[in-house]
Order: sequence, then C-alpha cells, then structure tokens
Amino acid sequence: MKKTTGTDRSITRKWRPATRAVRGGTWRSEHGETSEALFLTSGYTYDDAATVAARFAGEQEGMTYSRLQNPSVAMLEERIALMEGAEACRAQATGMAAMTTALLCQLSAGDHIVSARAAFGSCRWIVDNLLPRFGIEKTIVDGADNAAWEAAIRPNTKVFFFETPANPTMELVDMEYVCGLARAHGIVSVVDNAFCTPVLQRPLEFGADVVAYSATKLMDGQGRVLAGAVCGSEAFINEVLLPFQRNTGPNCSPFNAWIVFKGLETLELRARRQSENALKLGQFIEGRVPRMLHPGLPSHPQHDLAARQMDACGPIFSFILDGGRAQAHAVLDALELIDISNNIGDSKSLMCHPASTTHHNVGPEGRAEMGVEEGMLRINVGLEDIDDLIEDMDQALKKAGL
Ligand SMILES: *Cc1c(COP(=O)(O)O)cnc(C)c1O
Repeated sequence: MKKTTGTDRSITRKWRPATRAVRGGTWRSEHGETSEALFLTSGYTYDDAATVAARFAGEQEGMTYSRLQNPSVAMLEERIALMEGAEACRAQATGMAAMTTALLCQLSAGDHIVSARAAFGSCRWIVDNLLPRFGIEKTIVDGADNAAWEAAIRPNTKVFFFETPANPTMELVDMEYVCGLARAHGIVSVVDNAFCTPVLQRPLEFGADVVAYSATKLMDGQGRVLAGAVCGSEAFINEVLLPFQRNTGPNCSPFNAWIVFKGLETLELRARRQSENALKLGQFIEGRVPRMLHPGLPSHPQHDLAARQMDACGPIFSFILDGGRAQAHAVLDALELIDISNNIGDSKSLMCHPASTTHHNVGPEGRAEMGVEEGMLRINVGLEDIDDLIEDMDQALKKAGL
C-alpha cells in the first residue's frame, strides 16, 4: 500500500474543502488504481514473525485485524476528518452505533447528561432508557432555550447531547452558546450533525467537542448502506473512544465504508442542490399549508440563527396541516413522483408522516412533548427537477383539499 498526498496532513491541511472531499485519505495499492480499492478482508499476513510482533507491540505501523483497522475504513475516516476539520475520526456500523459509542465511551455510573427533547427517536431511547440502566442520570431540555441548558447543569454533568436541526420539528440549537457553555463547565458537547454534514454546518467551528454522524443519510446520499462516524480531538478519539470501540466492535464494514467514501466525492454538489430544491419547494408550499417548519424561510422563528450557523438549510423540512393524520395521509397517498419513505438524505425525494412512522414508538405523550403533531409531514427533497417536484406537490395538496 502506498500512501498518497491525500494521507499527508502537511499537504491536505492546505487543500480547500472540495479537494479534500475528492482526494483526502486516498491510499493506493501497487496497481496504482484511480478509484480507491475495496479491501474486504478481516485479517492480514506478515512476511515474518518479527513484523507481526512489532505491530502488536505498537512499534510498527500496519494493520493486524479489521476490528482494529482496515484500509477501506481508514480511508473513509481520514476523508471525513479532513472534511470536518477534526483531528481524528472513527467509523461505525450505523448512525446509532456512532451515537451509542460516542456516549457510552465517556459516561459512567453517577454521571449526568443533558439532552435536547427534540431528537431522533433512537437517540431519545438511549438517553431515556439505556443510560439510566447504567446509573447515568439525565435531564431533557428544550434545545432552543439557551437558559434551560444552563439551568440543567449539575456538578456531575459530563455531556451535552443534541442534534440541530432536530428531526422532524426542525428546531435549532444555538451551537455557539450551548457548546461555549459546555466548555466553560468542563462538559463535553456531542453534536449529531446528520441533517447537515460538514458541507452545510461545521459544529467544531462553534465550539463543539465531538461530532457524530449517521453516514447513512447525506454522506452515502443514494440510500444504499448504513454507516456512522464520530469526529473529535486526537485525545478524545484515541484515548476515550478507541479503547471502547476496539473492544466492543461496533465497526463499519469495509464495503459500507467504501460506498460512503465514494459518496463523499459528490457530497457538496448534492447537499447544495438538494438544499436549493428544498428552499424552492418550501417557498412554493408556504401559504398553502397552515404552518411551515423550514429554517431557510423567514417564517421560521430561528431563521437568523440558521443563517449564522448553517451554510444552507439542507434537504429536509416539515409542515403541519390542520386536518390531522387523515389529511397528512391523504397528501402522501396522492403523491405520484415523490415516494412515501421514512429515509432522509437520499437523492430521491421522500416524504413521511412522522407520528405514524419514525416517532410512532415514542407514544402520544412523547410526541406531544417533542412537538410531533398528527398533521405533520416531513420531506427529504432530492435531486429531481424542481419543477417536477413542485407539480407533484401541487397536485397532491389539491387532492387533499389544500
Ligand atoms: C438516521 C439518524 C440517526 C440514526 O442513524 P442510522 O444510520 O439509521 O443508525 C441518528 N440521528 C439522526 C439525526 C438521524 O437522522
């Protein structure tokens, strides 16, 4: 294996973001392939016994077992770290493996976590159900309320955990304030950046300590594989996260890593075009429906904050109908082009009714607390021609009486 310029930080640090996305992290085999190779291997062989002994002793660089390192996964990790502007990154099997690893690697019995109430259902399950089983206390706050974060701090608070924008209510967290508050109290802030990716929002620039991803979403971008990643300082990744990951094994498969890695080459183009389409479709819908939840529109209560911390507002937004579940389902059933699907980040436009799908499991009380109303619809806007999307939405809204 030959490392290329893409693995030399003294060179990649000078590269601009687009170059990092296409060249960052690349290794080449002796064949000199243009497109990075896929290394489907669990183990490695050695020329002699001294070599393997030196690798196990940590005296020589090189792979020993794919739970510890794999070339395809290592390429993905380096490319994401470069795009994020992070010192280090480790990849996991899914976004939820990434969130679980990012939290459990640093929390112990007796610690306290503060988490935003509006969150991906499984993230809330970890905070509400899993962590308490291990003696980790929690406080759930309104993530948009800066004072609530401060009021929740206790002497044993170890972690702040939130996503911004939140799924599916599109509430934002003021990262500069909340991550700054965490820093001032020696609390580690963990930001789930799945909705934006480093192309649209870079939490580290606003003081976040750890950025965690579902790479299943925009990073893959074509709905093919599940994957996750955690970015942070070298000290956090190597000393806190790695011992946990190497011994518990939530690793990303090399095949999935390779798919996501190739997806990153087009991430910026996709994320920007999908954001443009989402803004145009949001502008078209606004006025036709009672309430829009789109941070890129001036009607969003945190529109100014969105402009401060996001480069563009991403492919996802929600809106609320007065006719409850029946009317929301009627819109979905009338769609001809846009698919009914609960996935996001895909290059295909997908729409779902969160109350009966992604947020079914949190129950009516949980949904009320999080603001997931019966008349809410969430859309992931894809790469189709915006006029086709507008026409489809127009006819579906008409059929549902809007
Ligand atoms: C999808 C998603 C996750 C979970 O990711 P998986 O890859 O499905 O495990 C976590 N957080 C957010 C915000 C998500 O959208």
